[in-house]
Amino acid sequence: MNQGLVPAAEAINKLIQEFNNLPGIGPKSAQRLTYYLLRAPDEQTKLLAEAILSLKQKIVLCSTCFNVTESDPCPICRSDQRDRSQICIVEQPQDILALEHTGIYKGLYHVLHGAISPTEGIGADDIRSKELLNRLQDGSVSEVTLATNPTLEGEQTAMYLNHLISPLGIKVTRLARGLPFGTELEYADDVTLTRAIEGRQEF
Ligand SMILES: [Zn+2]
Repeated sequence: MNQGLVPAAEAINKLIQEFNNLPGIGPKSAQRLTYYLLRAPDEQTKLLAEAILSLKQKIVLCSTCFNVTESDPCPICRSDQRDRSQICIVEQPQDILALEHTGIYKGLYHVLHGAISPTEGIGADDIRSKELLNRLQDGSVSEVTLATNPTLEGEQTAMYLNHLISPLGIKVTRLARGLPFGTELEYADDVTLTRAIEGRQEF
């Protein structure tokens, strides 16, 4: 802080700092949000605070697919409308949202919660690959689609999983190359994602 400037109140600084810690929010936006909330009706700030608290209190991971959910198993794993012979593997829960939004995939999911990245020290044991292998043991799954991001880490992860799953006699497919390299799934548009699912190829 510049000397001579009157420091903002502690409570204000604290919230600016917390906003600033969030992805995609720089110091300016953090400041804008904080001063916006200061002027906002009490009811609005209360709802926001409650929403943040209940996020952690109510959300658990599905013990089958590791998607975020309020009830375990999650609605997708519980649904009798889904094709149980297909599992689509994604890095993050928000990837499921993107794929579900296209409406064309009817199988189940498996969330890795990460991707293999030797540079960041994330290995095969740090993603939910053991749990995935367990799911594949009963022979009910005939196709696994690797929908990891088309990034270096996503490709490495897909290669590793293919190596793990292929010997089980399960067809392994990878999303088609409609997705530009370096893109994250959650930011891909519906048309591109739909083409990528429809055009998935054997790994
Ligand atoms: Zn689930």
